[in-house]
Amino acid sequence: MSETSKSLNFIEQIVAEDLQKGYTEKDLRFRFPPEPNGYLHIGHASSICLNFGLGLKHNAPVNLRFDDTNPAKEEQRFVDAIKRDVEWLGFKWDTERYASDYFQQLYDWAVVLIKKGKAYVDDQSSEEMAKQKGTPTEPGTESPNRNRSVEENLALFEAMKNGEFEEGSHVLRAKIDMTSSNMLMRDPIMYRVLHKAHHRTDTNWCIYPMYDWTHGESDYIEQVSHSFCTLEFAMHRELYDWFLDQVYEADKVRPKQREFARRNLSHTVVSKRKLAQLVEQNIVNGWDDPRMPTISGLRRRGYTPESIRNFADTIGIAKRDNLIDVSLLEFHVREHLNKIVPRVMGVLDPLKVVITNYPEGQEEWLTAENSPEDEALGTREVPFSREIYIEKADFKEAANKKFFRLKLGHEVRLKNGYIIKAESCTKDADGNVVEVQCTYDPKSKSGSGTEESLRKVKGTLHWVSVKHAIPAEIRLYDRLFTDESPDTHKDKDFMEFINPNSLEVITGYVEPSLATAKPQERFQFQRMGYFCVDPDSQPGKLVFNRTVGLRDSWAKIQEKS
Ligand code: ATP
Ligand code: MG
Repeated sequence: MSETSKSLNFIEQIVAEDLQKGYTEKDLRFRFPPEPNGYLHIGHASSICLNFGLGLKHNAPVNLRFDDTNPAKEEQRFVDAIKRDVEWLGFKWDTERYASDYFQQLYDWAVVLIKKGKAYVDDQSSEEMAKQKGTPTEPGTESPNRNRSVEENLALFEAMKNGEFEEGSHVLRAKIDMTSSNMLMRDPIMYRVLHKAHHRTDTNWCIYPMYDWTHGESDYIEQVSHSFCTLEFAMHRELYDWFLDQVYEADKVRPKQREFARRNLSHTVVSKRKLAQLVEQNIVNGWDDPRMPTISGLRRRGYTPESIRNFADTIGIAKRDNLIDVSLLEFHVREHLNKIVPRVMGVLDPLKVVITNYPEGQEEWLTAENSPEDEALGTREVPFSREIYIEKADFKEAANKKFFRLKLGHEVRLKNGYIIKAESCTKDADGNVVEVQCTYDPKSKSGSGTEESLRKVKGTLHWVSVKHAIPAEIRLYDRLFTDESPDTHKDKDFMEFINPNSLEVITGYVEPSLATAKPQERFQFQRMGYFCVDPDSQPGKLVFNRTVGLRDSWAKIQEKS
């Protein structure tokens, strides 16, 4: 679909309508507001593409705002990782902001609220306050501290700030309505005491503002016009607006919160907290483990930014939560890699083939096209000799007509090379085939222009020359969870569904052109899938990750439905 014919999603429509109703493009400003308590995941990619996409569309600035109000969970290394990932996805933020930049302003505004009689310090136990909250069907009861004098509240709040109270002993609450049908409006907490050093403000503060008090006011300070968040904040909108009412000045842009559905991906979990559990319990090897649904994990696995953006674009923005099958994500990376990466040959499960009529000690270099999709990728030379490896699964002593690979008495073509015919095979004591003896047709070399070179045989196999092959560690990945939706079971924890076989490490043999491959370089191993050099790779010790196989399971799912 072209940019113009593509219909607007409901979020884009909200912006478009606002532009009809008095907003100008100059008023538009968006933000992406991650909490630096973990790495970004594929769910965040939707939010990033939405907010930065709107910025590009309207030529409006987009802030990267770290929502860093909980020093117990947030760390500088997460800030660094988030910045790296947003940049890698291809987006540029206008300014880098931190909610913690606004701690003083938020404090000053809280004092204003106290002076207006709209906030008070409560020193009841949290159990007591919880009891007074009521239930969705019963109104709450007012705190005995609700009507403290302004002077007393100011003094207590200052004492909170000065570190005179213990954690959990005092909170500042907004004085709203203990009978509201929206439980969040029943005198919500604005500040709590936390004697923890913050990764940016260190020990300057020992009171920290709550999300609701922070988010809208930060949007307001930055003059964000549209604040898009996920559906679980829908009920918070009333409070977002109430807090804004307290500080809003007429000539300013008034931020508007709107909600869209969280994106969930099958066979994984998209929650920083749960992903942190996988890291902490060493279920995976860090946040960037190629099995993780994090942006860093996907990058290490071999995903391209384009494939992730295209995925986010395809699934779009929805009003209701739903589960996206991971094979759709795989479809997008396969589609992109198919266009851009060179083809090479690598054998994952080797079986030795001896070409008995090829002179011993002889070798030759065959010219191979790097990609049928892109001539600009050029050609390379691949060595051929008397002994080669093929894939074990590509040989059978005898098989039916549908087996277009190598079987005794039949021919196949070696990719970029000759036609060979299987004559005999050798087995070990257990009856496993350990070597196949073949003859080759010397006139059948691909691209040589002879009649024989054009001869069609059913079946083309990839191979590597034994003498020239480079052993490489190859990491094959499977789904991290055996269940489609591991974190939606009432009676079972998501950790119970971990797939014990999500990683298989094997030694494969790759053609020598890969000897100098660098981390993050991507290839198609012909007939085997897409592979990417892992950062663990070293000169003389190659390590590859399989990004995705060649088979398109997404298309199959589509056919079925
Ligand atoms: P997590 O539970 O993984 O920590 P979060 O919502 O707490 O998620 P934030 O760092 O607060 O994470 O998220 C930053 C932005 O990304 C928010 O606007 C949030 O709504 C959005 N977001 C987070 N997860 C998803 C998701 N799965 N799908 C779409 N948007 C998401
Ligand atoms: Mg969060």
